[in-house]
Amino acid sequence: MREGRFIGRIGRFVLPQSTWSHYEEVGAFPRGLLVVGDALCRLNPIYGQGMTLAAQQACILRDLPAGRGGAGDPLADLGQDLFRAIQPTVGGAWGISAVPDFAHPRTSGTRPPDLETDLRFGAGIQRLAARDPDVHRLLLGVRQLLLPPSVLREPTLLRAVEMETGRAGPAAGRTTRQDG
Ligand SMILES: Cc1cc2nc3c(=O)[nH]c(=O)nc-3n(C[C@H](O)[C@H](O)[C@H](O)COP(=O)(O)OP(=O)(O)OC[C@H]3O[C@@H](n4cnc5c(N)ncnc54)[C@H](O)[C@@H]3O)c2cc1C
Repeated sequence: MREGRFIGRIGRFVLPQSTWSHYEEVGAFPRGLLVVGDALCRLNPIYGQGMTLAAQQACILRDLPAGRGGAGDPLADLGQDLFRAIQPTVGGAWGISAVPDFAHPRTSGTRPPDLETDLRFGAGIQRLAARDPDVHRLLLGVRQLLLPPSVLREPTLLRAVEMETGRAGPAAGRTTRQDG
């Protein structure tokens, strides 16, 4: 760096939005074309999930049943099969990193019907994790895509989060976004 010289002004890289393109809804997807990684779903980089999500998609593609094309064309419907298979994985990451943005009233996009519940849960578990190392470890595992989001729905944990949100009162959901 000492030897370097500026070739222009320093610029900030601003990511204005997360995007998830629902190619699974495209009826006849072109044969031989696949979309993965950021081209399919681009998440807010502050969560550091994009590379993991892209790698997970590659693994799902690799693990698609070898004989899925039957004796016919192995590329036929490959796009639709892949987009269907990766949807839960992409949806999990989206739920963690994009949905909490809706805590801000000016965020545009399709709000999930259970948004308020999600935001309250997110705020509650965040506070719980600040006190309980086991919950903190679980939450980190889910945010880093090492564990499925379903581990946060374990009944004992759900009860603890409910108690936490009850303690904090109705405004708790609005604090979710601040942890990012
Ligand atoms: C600031 C920032 C920080 C991030 N931090 C993290 C992090 O800590 N952890 C994490 O997991 N993820 C992070 N990400 C996200 C991660 O970088 C992306 O999710 C990941 O790189 C997506 O991989 P990709 O292969 O889909 O796209 P890319 O890595 O963007 O690769 C696309 C490639 O295609 C090339 N290309 C584009 N157009 C053309 C064309 N017409 N012809 C030929 N080549 C073309 C581009 O030059 C690029 O090399 C961060 C992203 C940003 C912006």
